[in-house]
Order: sequence, then C-alpha cells, then structure tokens
Amino acid sequence: MRCSQCDRRDLQPGFVEDSGEGSRGYARWIEGALERGVFGGAKRLGKPRWIIDAYRCTHCSHLEFFARPPE
Ligand SMILES: [Zn+2]
Repeated sequence: MRCSQCDRRDLQPGFVEDSGEGSRGYARWIEGALERGVFGGAKRLGKPRWIIDAYRCTHCSHLEFFARPPE
C-alpha cells in the first residue's frame, strides 16, 4: 500500500473515531448521498454500514480510507 499523495509506503493503520452519543466509537461508511430527516439527522435505516479503515502516512499525514464490508 502506498500513500496517494507522496507515494511512500509508511502507512500506519488506524480508524476514525465517532464519540457521538450512542455511537460505537468508530465512524462507518454508508452507500448513497447523504439525506437528512426532519430533525437533521442522516437517513440510514436499513442501509449496510461499512467499517472504515484509515491509514495515516507517517511522512505527510495524508489519510487513506478503505471501507470493509459489514460483518
Ligand atoms: Zn504521504
């Protein structure tokens, strides 16, 4: 795996935290453009949630994201 900004191979695994109330502690990826409901929250019922793997380049700090299928 290479950094798409500086082309180095020094990528450090990690994830994007979600510290919102009721969250599981990590952000997830959902297919389709964001649609918001009457209270402003994202409409996401029934949609599969993919786990996001976020790799940080230790040289330039660019983040590379990969979505992992739901378990
Ligand atoms: Zn980089």
